[in-house]
Amino acid sequence: MFFQRPSRNLLITLRDAITHTLPPACAGCDGHAPPRRAFCALCDDVAYPLQNPLCAVCSVPMEQFSSPDEARSECSRCRRRPPNFDRIIAHWEYDGAVADAIRRLKYGDDFASLRALCRGARPWFLRCLCELPEDCPIIPVPSHSTSLRRRGFHVPTMSLRLLLPRRHRHRIDHRLIKTRSTPRQAGLPFAARQANVRDVFDYRASTTPQGPAILFDDVVTTGATADAAAGVLLDAGFESIEIVTLARAPARRSYQAPPPSPRLP
Ligand SMILES: [Zn+2]
Ligand SMILES: [Zn+2]
Repeated sequence: MFFQRPSRNLLITLRDAITHTLPPACAGCDGHAPPRRAFCALCDDVAYPLQNPLCAVCSVPMEQFSSPDEARSECSRCRRRPPNFDRIIAHWEYDGAVADAIRRLKYGDDFASLRALCRGARPWFLRCLCELPEDCPIIPVPSHSTSLRRRGFHVPTMSLRLLLPRRHRHRIDHRLIKTRSTPRQAGLPFAARQANVRDVFDYRASTTPQGPAILFDDVVTTGATADAAAGVLLDAGFESIEIVTLARAPARRSYQAPPPSPRLP
């Protein structure tokens, strides 16, 4: 008796059947998540959507304000030194289960965590795109080729592929590149991160770009990388830069995460 190799179409059908039968993986643990959610019920309780009050520019959570007017103002860092970008739009706080998921992704190269995060963030991301300038490029924050080779995939680009619908008005622009490898930013203060990313980005295009651009990263911590990349894009000719990210870290180590917000219906 001889065994006939199954066709590729049959294998794809089987894979899709299994994918749709098994509950999807949770982004933050080894459990399973409900359909179209990033996290299982336990992790969801400690995954915090970013909530006001936030800095109007860098979206860092602000702890308290004395008047409603101040609630729309900027944080002290943005007032002292306005960044190169117009604003940061973020979905989650980089804390709790979201931080766990991003650690699994960054240090464990866990692609299932990225897929789950994007599954949960997709409705938010599509609403964001409706509010952003039409037909402007989305530029993933690049990695150096050495880290690409190690991980095997580029997190911001892969995120965009998972987040964007098949037909959409925004094109992904890969012309921003990282010209050298840099030490890991995790755990470094803002000034050290700034020094790390100084002169590491280059935008290589044959024509001068025009209009606004969206810069996308999976996580923004101090904003030093986003600021450096946005500066290069402005120098290249873009008129304004908006940063879109899945998760935004609080500015201060002493920041206390708010209690979990109720689930959306
Ligand atoms: Zn979980
Ligand atoms: Zn700010």
